[in-house]
Amino acid sequence: MEQSLIEQYKDVYVFAQQVDNEISPIAFELLGKAKDLANDLNEKVVAVLIGHNVKDLAAQLGAYGADKVIVVDDKELEVYRTEPYTHALASVINEFKPEIMLVGATAIGRDLGPRVSARVQTGLTADCTSLEIGNFPLNPMPGREQKPNQLLMTRPAFGGNTIATIACPDNRPQMATVRPGVMQKIEPIADANPEVVEYNPGFTPDNKYVEILDIVKNVSDVVDIQDAKILVSGGRGVGTPENFKMLEELAEVVGGTVSCSRAVVDAGWKPQDLQVGQTGKTVRPQVYFAIGISGAIQHVAGMEESDLIIAINKDEDAPIFDVADYGIVGDLNKIVPLLTEEIKKA
Ligand code: FAD
Repeated sequence: MEQSLIEQYKDVYVFAQQVDNEISPIAFELLGKAKDLANDLNEKVVAVLIGHNVKDLAAQLGAYGADKVIVVDDKELEVYRTEPYTHALASVINEFKPEIMLVGATAIGRDLGPRVSARVQTGLTADCTSLEIGNFPLNPMPGREQKPNQLLMTRPAFGGNTIATIACPDNRPQMATVRPGVMQKIEPIADANPEVVEYNPGFTPDNKYVEILDIVKNVSDVVDIQDAKILVSGGRGVGTPENFKMLEELAEVVGGTVSCSRAVVDAGWKPQDLQVGQTGKTVRPQVYFAIGISGAIQHVAGMEESDLIIAINKDEDAPIFDVADYGIVGDLNKIVPLLTEEIKKA
């Protein structure tokens, strides 16, 4: 793309995912990050809200940092389908020309992001865990120009064995999908009053390839570990799947949820959606109990931002103690039941 065209693109845009007219938490997280990026660029934060009868949600997006909300409202957008949503977001990009376009790496975002980037002919860095504004290339070779104010998109690569920082210097928008739970939302602004712009690129009913026959909701009373305020996380040191009963009892008395390390998932003791870490979920609870977890770097990457970390491990040199606020050295089979009893009494 020519430099003169690139200069027409401005502002940091966020795809504000909503499902059943409820904004998904990832949208607020992305707005928090977008605000930092927009401050660095001296630009604005714009949320793109796509759906049917969704305009009323714009105020919430303002409260979490959107200066402006572009609403694309159409009957065709009532439930997520790839083609109408791709048409909606790609049309917004072509019409409004964002400098940066952020999409959550949710099931919807992972489907939508790559389609949209192909349609508007730009690059996409998927599943980012860090975003910042900086110069690119980071270490230019002699004679090669270093461009300022690029979006530096960082993500684990090669199965998590290396961390790659990627930029898109020659096309716009700079697009990224971002892992849920990594970015922080801001404290809601009480008197936010975002500009609301309605835009409809026109939709033709598109039932040719995809027709929705039924929607089956996932009914589960298990709290998503990314939403839990307290996590009681077990590792290989727990020993057997049956021993997790101890952790469940502790979780019950502290009002928490059980999660685990990858070793536990690999052993088939717990399902993958409870896994914390680089190839699992990133969590940020108020309290994280790490029980029988060694503290491998890939695990720590997913929980180190927790407010308070309490580790129980029989090995006093276990690396988990390097990130723990409180550490208990000893046999978890003795400590966990004792702790549960004491907390019950309190
Ligand atoms: P171990 O490392 O075996 O640790 C068990 C701990 O329990 C030890 O510290 C031991 O001292 C303690 N213990 C044993 N018995 C007791 C007892 N009775 N009382 C008290 N303490 C006891 N791992 C993740 O967790 N999440 C990821 O997302 C992830 N992604 C990965 C991605 C890649 C590319 C790779 C290569 C690895 C990844 N891993 C991940 C695996 C990671 O490297 C570790 O192997 C894993 O985290 C170890 O799990 P653990 O701590 O439960 O087990």
